[in-house]
Amino acid sequence: MIKTDLQPVIGLEVHAELLTDTKAFCSCSTNFGSSPNVNTCPVCLGMPGALPSLNSQVVELAVRAGLALGCEIHERSVFDRKNYFYPDLPKGYQITQYREPICTGGGVRISGGWGEKTVELERIHIEEDAGKLIHRGEKTLIDFNRAGVPLIEIVSRPQISSPEEAMEYLEDLRRTLTYYGISDCKMNEGSMRCDVNISLRRRGADRAGERCEIKNINSISFAGKALEYEIERQRMILESGEIVRRETRRFNEDTGKTEHMRYKETEDDYRYFREPNIPVLKISRDYIDSIRASMPEPPYEEICRLVREYGMTERSAGMIMFSPGIYPYFLRVAKMTSFRIHAANFIIGEIIPKDKKPESVISAEHLAEICDMYGNGEIVSSAAKTLMSIVQETGNPPREEAVKNGLFRIRDREMLMKYAEEAVAENPKSVSDYRAGKANAIKQLLGSVMRATKGAADPDLAEKLLRELIE
Ligand SMILES: [Zn+2]
Repeated sequence: MIKTDLQPVIGLEVHAELLTDTKAFCSCSTNFGSSPNVNTCPVCLGMPGALPSLNSQVVELAVRAGLALGCEIHERSVFDRKNYFYPDLPKGYQITQYREPICTGGGVRISGGWGEKTVELERIHIEEDAGKLIHRGEKTLIDFNRAGVPLIEIVSRPQISSPEEAMEYLEDLRRTLTYYGISDCKMNEGSMRCDVNISLRRRGADRAGERCEIKNINSISFAGKALEYEIERQRMILESGEIVRRETRRFNEDTGKTEHMRYKETEDDYRYFREPNIPVLKISRDYIDSIRASMPEPPYEEICRLVREYGMTERSAGMIMFSPGIYPYFLRVAKMTSFRIHAANFIIGEIIPKDKKPESVISAEHLAEICDMYGNGEIVSSAAKTLMSIVQETGNPPREEAVKNGLFRIRDREMLMKYAEEAVAENPKSVSDYRAGKANAIKQLLGSVMRATKGAADPDLAEKLLRELIE
C-alpha cells in the first residue's frame, strides 16, 4: 500500500442556547429540568392560528455574540422557515435565518502546542430549538419544553486541521459565550451542541474529498474522539483506493466510533421561504453601540491584568474569569481587602467548587474580613476555612464567630502545651512510630492538635511543642 499524505479539513457548526428567561417567539419559560410539557403554549406547540413574536432579549444576546467574536452585525436580517417533518418539531418547520443572518464574518483565535491561528466564521444566525425525544424501550415520548428555546448557530469556515484544534476552538467558544452571559454552554444539559464536518484532502490539493457530517455531539472530548476516529476511517478508505461517500454519521459514546446514519448524495431540500409572520429585523447602529458599551472588557486583557496587578497565576486568573458570576464578586472582595491573593485562593478553593452564586455562599464583605484576619496572621489557614464554613451557615460577621468559636491563632505556649499533651496521650501509636524513626508520624499528632483547636493552633509552635514532648 502506498502511504499517502492526507490532511483533515474540518468545519464546526455550534448550537448554543441563549440565556433568555423566555422562549424565542412566545413567553413560555426556558427553565431546564421542569416536568415534561409544562413550558408550552399554542405558539411553541404550533397550533393553527398562533402567531409568533420575537423576544428582544434574543436579539440582544445574538448581537453580543457577534460583537464578542468580531463579526459584522447586520442592521437588517430576515427570518425564514426551514421545512421538514420530524416528531420533535410540532410546527413542521423551524424558524431560522437563512439568506440574511444577523451576523457574518468574525473569528475565534485559538492557540496550542501547534501554534496560533484564527478560525474564521462564516456566520451566526438565530433559530429555535426543537423538542426532545425520549426513548423508553419500544416507546418514544416527546417533551416540548425545549421547542422554541432560542439558539444561535455559529458556523466556522473549514479551517480547522486537527482534533486538537477543534477541541481548542470549542473550549474557546465556550469560554467566550459564558463570559459574556450569552449562553451557559452546559454541554451535559444540551445547551451547547455541535455538528462536525470532516473530509480529507491530499497535501497541496485545493479540493477536498467528499465530507461526512457527524451530528449532535454533546461534549468537547467526544468531538475530539469522533474526529480522531473519522480521520482514521476516511484515511483507510482513501488509501485502499475507494471513495468516501457523502453521509451523515453519529458518534457512539460507548464504542468511541462513528456510525452510519444516512447517505447524503445531494443537499437536503428544506424549501426555505421567508417566515411571513415575523417582520424583517431592523436594528440601528445606536442599538448595536449601546450593547457594545454594556459589555465588559475582553477576557484575555482582563486575565493579563489579574496576573499583572494581583500576582495571580494565569490558571487562577482564568478560573476567576470564566466561572459564572465569579469575576465581579472577586472585584468586590478585592476592593475591601489588601490581601487579594488570599481572596483569589479562597474563591478558587472554597467557592467555585460549590457551583452556586458566590454571594449565596458568603458575602463579599465577610470574605474580605476573613482575608484580612488571615493576611494579618490573626488566624491560620485551617481556621480560615473553618471560619468560612461557620459564616456560611450563620451569616454572622467573621470576627464575632472567630471569638465565639475560639478560632484566633493560639500562640499561648501553656495553652498549646495542654493540647499537645492530650494529642500525645491519645495517639500512642504515632508516638512510637515517631520514636522508631518515622518522621511523618509527627503530622498525625499535629493533625490531632489542629482538630482539637478547630484549626486555630499556630502549626509551627504546636509542632515544636510536640517534638519537645516526645523527644
Ligand atoms: Zn410557548
